[in-house]
Amino acid sequence: MRSPFNRPSVQTTPFKKVGGWKCGYHTGVDRVCSTDKTIVAVADGVVQRVNDCGSSYGNHIVYRTTDGIVILCAHLAHKPTVRPGDKVTCGQKLGLMGSTGNSTGPHLHIELQRAERWQYAQNLLDPNRYIDWYEFSNAKEEFMERTWKNGSTREQVYQTVADCKAKRRSIGFLEPGETATCTAVAEGCYLLLYRTSSTMKCGFVSYHGGITL
Ligand SMILES: [Zn+2]
Repeated sequence: MRSPFNRPSVQTTPFKKVGGWKCGYHTGVDRVCSTDKTIVAVADGVVQRVNDCGSSYGNHIVYRTTDGIVILCAHLAHKPTVRPGDKVTCGQKLGLMGSTGNSTGPHLHIELQRAERWQYAQNLLDPNRYIDWYEFSNAKEEFMERTWKNGSTREQVYQTVADCKAKRRSIGFLEPGETATCTAVAEGCYLLLYRTSSTMKCGFVSYHGGITL
């Protein structure tokens, strides 16, 4: 599936992060795009629900793709103009990234379920396994060097993008909370410069909840 953004975005809260949510963990991923707030449909589908899945989602849309995946997009800036039963097409604008509902700042919360109908915390899929966050962006050209702080998961570092994608031949690790300099992004993998005990190393990581500082 394509990205719900038209420009590069960063993940701010990973899928299944443990915390103060009703079910005890985060049911989707949160992402922020600082250059374009437009939110679009990630695939063709039909709208099932609008603003009735709970006030914590703020303005939200639930649509079901033709492949049978139910998608919830939350915290939209404005009341959606689509209604249940409306068809949406891949890339169609659904609204603007906002901070409505239980949200401390503008971001998109997107969650995926393999289901007929949306149900809270049921049939969840990891959005990062289905959405290509870079397919419709020029991330490679637009990416600027930044500090990258690893999330709560130990991150394996790989020498090549191919190794990173296939999760083979790790050349090192980034521990949770460690920082690195991110110099580029290629095919969804981040090229990092990081320090191991005494030397600088360079390698690719996939993105599991790192944040930019
Ligand atoms: Zn969220």
